[in-house]
Amino acid sequence: MERALISEFTGICAHHGDPSVLVGIGDDCAVIAPAQGENLLITTDALVEGIHFDLSYFDPFYLGRKTAGVNLSDIAAMGGIPRWAFLSIALPLDMEHKRQFARRFGLGLASKLSAYGASLVGGDTVGTRNAMTVTLILIGETRQQRALLRSKAKARDLIYCSGYLGESATGLLLLKHISSKRPGRHRYCPQGPGRLLPRAARRRLIEHHLDPEPRVELGRALADSGLVHCCIDISDGVATDLAHICEESRVGANIYGEAIPVSRAMLSGLRFLRSQGVMEGNVSPVRLALTGGEDFELLWTVPAAHATRIEALAARILGYRPFRIGEITSGDRVMLKDRLGTQDITFKGYEH
Ligand code: ADP
Ligand code: MG
Repeated sequence: MERALISEFTGICAHHGDPSVLVGIGDDCAVIAPAQGENLLITTDALVEGIHFDLSYFDPFYLGRKTAGVNLSDIAAMGGIPRWAFLSIALPLDMEHKRQFARRFGLGLASKLSAYGASLVGGDTVGTRNAMTVTLILIGETRQQRALLRSKAKARDLIYCSGYLGESATGLLLLKHISSKRPGRHRYCPQGPGRLLPRAARRRLIEHHLDPEPRVELGRALADSGLVHCCIDISDGVATDLAHICEESRVGANIYGEAIPVSRAMLSGLRFLRSQGVMEGNVSPVRLALTGGEDFELLWTVPAAHATRIEALAARILGYRPFRIGEITSGDRVMLKDRLGTQDITFKGYEH
């Protein structure tokens, strides 16, 4: 791919004097020097146009931030520190304004990576006859033996999550609704659908979808505590992500419907969407919260004896108390319990 295009990605993203980067962008490989006594965490996530995002509502700047955010969240879920990133991007051969796209995307990516201490040290830029695909590889560091795994949950552990659920899914529904009303307007647009949905709620929901906040500091503190058994980031919805923990740890889980944190912003977003005929009347907020996905909050399990300490630790970082949503059982299914009874929700989350 033309050099000018590569330099749009790399010019703004290059690492700025990070001493661990011996050779960054520009050679055949990057050369990096991890700190002694650290293990490396290596993750990758690909975003495909038409599957994970749509440029009718995704500004390239936000697409860059989200690409970084979803990968940062994986490092957060292991309790690591994000360090070095590689970007592989396939742009459609017939795409217009590639350079402007690359510049805005690069700015977004760099702003998000640098906010969490990571930098871009390499990548690849290619053309494609198919959909745009953006792939980031992110490498992090973790103290030896401290990574938070999915396989260590124990029956009677308490289950916590770090924030409201379902806001991203509601934000996506709003974005799709707004962009369907404004064909050709290729921007996330803070001016809203109007009086029916308060501006602050709309903004919160949409930003939650476009620019989720990875819980890096929290993940690291949970790992450093040495008291937390298990941790995962909620990318596909609790119903699926908790099922991963249960499978890997050979346990089950009870989730309490009344304890699922749904925000007022989400409730007014859903009310607005219903008033516009976008959703049927009976979609329950709790159901959407458990199955919607892409919230990128952390979910962790901790023995009851240490729960109060970990709650206080999380509250110091989050600014509010984390939400206790259930407990690990000796079964093998994820069960939702509420006033109406008990339902099996194992792997009922969002599939990308
Ligand atoms: P090569 O032929 O060795 O693959 P390239 O011309 O593809 O080299 O890339 C030149 C340099 O630019 C390499 O250091 C590569 O890591 C970097 N690079 C290319 N594309 C990107 C990108 N999208 N993001 C970050 N670095 C990139
Ligand atoms: Mg190359």
